[in-house]
Amino acid sequence: MNKTSENLFNRAKFVMPGGVNSPVRAFQSVGLVPRFIDRAKGNKIYDVDGKEYLDLVGSWGPMILGHGEEHVLEAVRSQIEKGLSFGACNELEVQLAEFIIERVPHIEMIRMVNSGTEAVMSAVRVARGYTKRNKIIKFEGCYHGHSDAMLVKAGSGAMTFGEPNSSGVTEGASQDTLTAKYNDLESVRTLLKNNEGEVACIIVEPVAANMGVVVPMEGFLEGLRSLCNDNGTLLIFDEVITGFRLAFGGAAEYFGVTPDLVTYGKIIGGGMPVGAYGGKKEIMEMVSPVGKVYQAGTLSGNPIAMAAGLATLRTLWEQKDFYEKLNAMGEYLAEGLRKVTGFTVNNVGSLSCLYYTDETVETYEDALRANTNKFSYVFSKLLDKGIYVAPSQFEALFLNSKFTKEDVDYIISSYEEILR
Ligand SMILES: *Cc1c(COP(=O)(O)O)cnc(C)c1O
Repeated sequence: MNKTSENLFNRAKFVMPGGVNSPVRAFQSVGLVPRFIDRAKGNKIYDVDGKEYLDLVGSWGPMILGHGEEHVLEAVRSQIEKGLSFGACNELEVQLAEFIIERVPHIEMIRMVNSGTEAVMSAVRVARGYTKRNKIIKFEGCYHGHSDAMLVKAGSGAMTFGEPNSSGVTEGASQDTLTAKYNDLESVRTLLKNNEGEVACIIVEPVAANMGVVVPMEGFLEGLRSLCNDNGTLLIFDEVITGFRLAFGGAAEYFGVTPDLVTYGKIIGGGMPVGAYGGKKEIMEMVSPVGKVYQAGTLSGNPIAMAAGLATLRTLWEQKDFYEKLNAMGEYLAEGLRKVTGFTVNNVGSLSCLYYTDETVETYEDALRANTNKFSYVFSKLLDKGIYVAPSQFEALFLNSKFTKEDVDYIISSYEEILR
């Protein structure tokens, strides 16, 4: 049988739920067959059907340098020869931890894990252990991975598939999760007041990038910081998307607000499965084997993954104007889309979202007003034009550093043509 996306998907559906290993990859909401990707290079991906696409997903963020960056591959290749996994200490994990800690002032100590989900789950456990409190506050429409306590009003995947709260999560697991409204400090203040002395942490995506892209309003992050200070509550920035993307020091550096703990994922592994959580030393010393909060991982600090992450972060750091250029390109894209479509385009740095509405989008409710049918229509036309965006209205357009002005102009004019 021909190796086409359609054939592969038909096989996949028999052996994996929905034919996928992560629901956001299924093109279910746009009613199409997901493209099976054969290979990727620079800012392009190539499917098994022989078509190429400008890739505005970038593996959902990690490929900020573009695909197949030679020295990242080289770092991986040379490590492969020395062993795939030891389940023991290795030099690369120390190097990666040092590299981050020397450059990101609010990270004094860090622990590597294997995914963003794991990072968040662990950071929340640490916050609870440190404060000896049970409750946590998250925001509607923010996604923090798929651990039980976090699957309450959890953003894109859930928004796309209409399941704000997952089945299989016990009341016990979610009863301590309080949900506030993003960009609404009053909602946070009320929860803190009604649960005085009980809230261990507030966890937030400093830029909400799993309900499209919702930008923190002036004073929102600062307000969270001071509410946390007043209530003995820890502030966790989930920087799984924004970390090493908006700036090397992530959203914390970009917006100048300092969290107590940070979670990383995506870019930190350079395309390999890595997550991490870190922050104040005093808090991180709660973690086993120093402290009493247990957290472990057979493959954590895996040498191949560390090599890919380190090579990626080195490049981001060493190219001094990296973020200036990438963010400027992101703004150029957003401005162009705004101009030719007339729709609302939210943007921070290299993250943008075109919402099919002409009203401003500052909250979860605003995001839900976007026209998802229009999204599906444009999505399939974009594919025809060789432009690959995430198959949901509620995801970001992720730029990587390989996009040229010509590429971005082509994207803008394609939207213009489709929407004419
Ligand atoms: C992707 C994501 C996660 C989960 O990371 P995984 O590696 O998919 O487990 C957590 N938080 C945010 C903000 C994310 O975007």
